[in-house]
Amino acid sequence: MEDCLFCKIIKGEIPATKVYEDDDMVIFKDIDPKAKNHHLCVPKSHFKLLADMTETQGEMLLKCFKKIPTLVKELGLENGYRLVINQGDDAGQSVFHLHIHILSGQKMGWTPA
Ligand code: 5GP
Ligand code: ZN
Repeated sequence: MEDCLFCKIIKGEIPATKVYEDDDMVIFKDIDPKAKNHHLCVPKSHFKLLADMTETQGEMLLKCFKKIPTLVKELGLENGYRLVINQGDDAGQSVFHLHIHILSGQKMGWTPA
């Protein structure tokens, strides 16, 4: 999608610290971490909300979830982590390209925008 920040990061038009990439997703560091260790797992297909995905498209999102435990070392998640998806304004969603927050280290907690 043209005017989407995360689509631009995926295309390499805006820089990000990418840790992992495959055909379905990219994982990069959050620019404004809400926990000691905060990455974003972003599906390459543009969807605003879970509600916009068909069941088949949802299988791609499941792939994203299932990839994360295989990357615990690369992402520094050996001691545990939280996965969060903000959906809509009342959840504090600020980038309307569906993504999974990967958070670890309990010190900073979570403060929605
Ligand atoms: P949301 O509020 O939509 O659930 O999460 C959006 C996340 O994207 C926020 O945690 C925010 O810090 C992060 N973010 C916003 N702009 C950028 C950016 O330009 N680069 C990176 N790496 N993260 C961003
Ligand atoms: Zn997008």
